[in-house]
Amino acid sequence: PIRSVAVLGGGISGLSTAYYLVRALPHDVPITIYESSKRLGGYIQSTQLALPGMDGTSGEGYVLFEHGPRTLRVSKRVSSVNIFDLIRRLNLKDELIVVPKRSAAAKNRYIFYDGKINMIPYSVASILKFYFSQPLFRGMLPEVLVEPFRRNKPKAVVEANDESIASFMTRRFGPRITERLISGAIHGIYAGDINQLSIKSIFEYLWKREKTWGSVVPLWKRREAPETKESENPYAERQNEHLKELLERNKAFMDSLEDASIVSFRHGMQSLVDRLQEEILSSGNVTIRYEDPVRHLENVVDGVTVTSAQGVSTYSHVFSAVPSRKLAELTEPPLAECLRKIPSVSVNVVNLFFSKPWLLPVTGFGYLLPKAVPREDNPELALGVVFDSDAVSRDHGERLIPGSFQDSVDGTKLTVMLGGHWWNHCKPVKEHDEAVALAKKLISRQIGVNESPALTQATYQESCIPQYVVGHHANLRAIHKAVLAQFNGKLILTGASFLGVSVNDCIYYARVAVEDAVNHSGRA
Ligand code: FAD
Repeated sequence: PIRSVAVLGGGISGLSTAYYLVRALPHDVPITIYESSKRLGGYIQSTQLALPGMDGTSGEGYVLFEHGPRTLRVSKRVSSVNIFDLIRRLNLKDELIVVPKRSAAAKNRYIFYDGKINMIPYSVASILKFYFSQPLFRGMLPEVLVEPFRRNKPKAVVEANDESIASFMTRRFGPRITERLISGAIHGIYAGDINQLSIKSIFEYLWKREKTWGSVVPLWKRREAPETKESENPYAERQNEHLKELLERNKAFMDSLEDASIVSFRHGMQSLVDRLQEEILSSGNVTIRYEDPVRHLENVVDGVTVTSAQGVSTYSHVFSAVPSRKLAELTEPPLAECLRKIPSVSVNVVNLFFSKPWLLPVTGFGYLLPKAVPREDNPELALGVVFDSDAVSRDHGERLIPGSFQDSVDGTKLTVMLGGHWWNHCKPVKEHDEAVALAKKLISRQIGVNESPALTQATYQESCIPQYVVGHHANLRAIHKAVLAQFNGKLILTGASFLGVSVNDCIYYARVAVEDAVNHSGRA
C-alpha cells in the first residue's frame, strides 16, 4: 500500500501529480515535493513588469510576459477536457481569457517564406484564395493530389516500425509540404528537427492512416477508421472512458467553450501553478522542499530512498516529474541509459513590448520560420514570432479594455523564440542583451517593426523541450521494463519527457500515473 510519497520536481507535472495524489489518498499519507529551485512551476513562469514613466520611474501601467507556455488548446481530446475539469475545480474559470475560433488570433496563422509572411488557409474557401496568391503554396497542389497513389511504406520502414517525420512526409507528399509547412509546425511545438523526430510518436494517426488506408489523404479510399487498439500509447484505451466521464461531468463548461480555440489566464499561466499550490497545501498533508535537489534514488526493501541536498528519507512510493535527463543522473543503468536517449533542445524566449498599438503589418497568432527558409533570411536562428497582443491580450478589432486583459495598457506585445534544434550545431545565445538584439533585428527585417521596445525580457530556457526522436516508443517500453526491474513498481514516471509535451498532456498523464499507482498498490 501507499504509505508515504515523494514527488520529484515542482513543475506543472509534479504539482498536478501532488494534486491528484491528495484527492486519491487518505489524508494521513504524507506527500513531499522536492524542488531544486526557489519556485514552483518549472518552465511555466509569468512576470508582470511595470512600464517605465517619462522620467524613468515606474507607475505608467503593467505588462505581463510569459517565459514559457502562454496558451492552452481547447479540443475534444481527453487531455484538453481534463484541464478544463481541473480549471473548474480550482475556481479559475473567471480568470480565463477565451480566444474564439472566429477571431483573427485563431484563424490567422502565418509562415515566413520567400521573404514574406504567408497566411495558412483556415477553410476550403481560403485554400482557393491563398493558393495562387502566396509563394508558400507554389507547387503544392500536385503533391497533395498524387499522395493517395504513392507507394506504401518501403520494407526497411516496416521493419524499423518508425521513421522520421521528414522521411514519412517526403515519401507521402514530397519536399515542399514537408519543409515549408510541417517543419514550421514542428518548430512551433517542439522547436525540433523533422529529420530526427518520430512520426509514430508525434503524428501516430498519420502513421496509422498509411497502414490502414495505404494513404494519408483519404479521398474515395476512406474505408474503416484506422485501428486504434494498436496504439503505442499504453493509456489509449482508458482515454475513451476518461473522456466520456469528463465530458459528462463538465458538460455545461465544455458547451460554453464550444466556440473557443485557445485560452490563457488574465494573470498568466502562473495562475494555474499558484492555485494548484494553494489547493495542495490546504490539504494539510503536503510539504514542499524548495531548493532541495534530489541527488540519488535507491530501491530498498520497504520503498525508495531519496537522497537530496538536505537529507536522506525513505518513501513507500516516489513519483518522478523531473525531465528524463535529470532522472538519469539519479538512477543506475539500464534505466539511466534509456532515459538519456531522450534528448532535449533549448530556446531563448524574448518578450518585447512596444507602447504603440497596431504596429504589425497583419493581425493573427504569429508566424513560424520553417526549415525551407534559407539561412541568410534567418541568421538569428529564430523558430517563430508570437503576436501576443493579438493572440491573447485582445481580440482582433476590439480595443483593449484596461484591467480586463493581461496588460493594463494598450500596445504591441511580441515573443520571438530563438534556437531550438538550430543550436544543436552551434553555440546557443544565452545572454539577455544579445538575445534581445537578435530579436529586434529579426522583426525589423521581417515585419518592419523598427520602434524601440518599452520593455524587454529574454529567458534562456535550457534543455526545455524533450524531443521524441525516432524509436521513442520503443525506448518508452525499455524504460517501463527497466523501471519495473530496478524499482519494483515503487518509482512511477511522469512529466513532459514521455507521452506529451503540452501542459494539457503533462496534467492528464500525471492523473493517469496517480490512478495507475493507486489502483495497483491499493489504498493505505
Ligand atoms: P518542468 O517544467 O521542467 O518541471 C520540472 C521541475 O523539476 C522544475 O521545476 C525543476 O526545477 C525541477 N527539478 C529538476 N531537477 C530536479 C531535481 N534533481 N530535484 C528536484 N527538482 C528538480 N505547452 C503548452 O501546452 N502550450 C504552450 O504554449 C507551450 N509553450 C511552451 C513554450 C516554451 C518556451 C516551453 C519551454 C514550453 C512550452 N510548452 C507549451 C510546453 C510545456 O510548457 C512544458 O512541456 C511543461 O511546462 C513541462 O512541465 P514539467 O513539469 O513536465 O517539467
